[in-house]
Amino acid sequence: MARGPSSQKRAADRRKRRRLADAVAERLGERYDHPTWAGPRVDAVSELVLTILSQNTADTNSFRAFTALRDRYASWDQVLAAATDELEEVIRPGGLAPTKSKRIQHVLAEVHSATDGTWDLSFLGEWPLLEAREWLTSLPGIGRKTAAIILLFNFGRPQLPVDTHVHRVASRLGMLPPRTSLERAHDLLEEVLEPAEMYPFHVELIRHGRDTCRAPRPICGLCPMTDVCAYYVQAARGRAPMAPILKALPDPDAPPRFHDELIHGWMPPE
Ligand code: SF4
Repeated sequence: MARGPSSQKRAADRRKRRRLADAVAERLGERYDHPTWAGPRVDAVSELVLTILSQNTADTNSFRAFTALRDRYASWDQVLAAATDELEEVIRPGGLAPTKSKRIQHVLAEVHSATDGTWDLSFLGEWPLLEAREWLTSLPGIGRKTAAIILLFNFGRPQLPVDTHVHRVASRLGMLPPRTSLERAHDLLEEVLEPAEMYPFHVELIRHGRDTCRAPRPICGLCPMTDVCAYYVQAARGRAPMAPILKALPDPDAPPRFHDELIHGWMPPE
């Protein structure tokens, strides 16, 4: 059957995304030391709670709230049984505490029920991938990005979390059409990445989005991707904003500020 122009365009777009994924793997991989997944950062329930706390707030705030929560309660059973207004007070440093306290207890209730109170989510590493994702996204307040974080970070499953940095950098490079929704961005990027590429791609784009391809103005003068970047074509012509090169590069020995750096090495209580 003859292929229409729309399927040809889709195929061309897919090839373009794949070429850009190759450039990311090579150049940003080199810049950010080819990150590889080395097992879970924390247990899956902690990761779920952390991601709820990190919604719409800075990483330092969500980590402070998470630490306060684990200092106050010795087990997930205690968090689940706590008075909601008390939990709200404990996690107040994370912002949106009234919403997040209810959401955490709703999610914990679902996990408790699904695991018969064992809090063991290892079935998410064993179920068919889409079933595991559907179970996670059926939880209150858990969307595609959080589901992908749990599946990728805790179980090494091939899912790509698309956060604001990944979305911005991929969009500027030309991997995503203008105004692509977060949900669609997950599909478009996962479609062209090999399973083993998802973790490094996620980490590389987040790091690049924080230190170079920043919002609202990227520091293109520090970027190894200018020759393949759609945004840079516009910025070089003065049609899109670009920041000057910083006089001083970020201090590599500065204290950790971001979610993954803060929780790296953190051990959940017994
Ligand atoms: S060239 Fe500029 S806009 Fe493009 S990825 Fe690099 S920093 Fe971002």
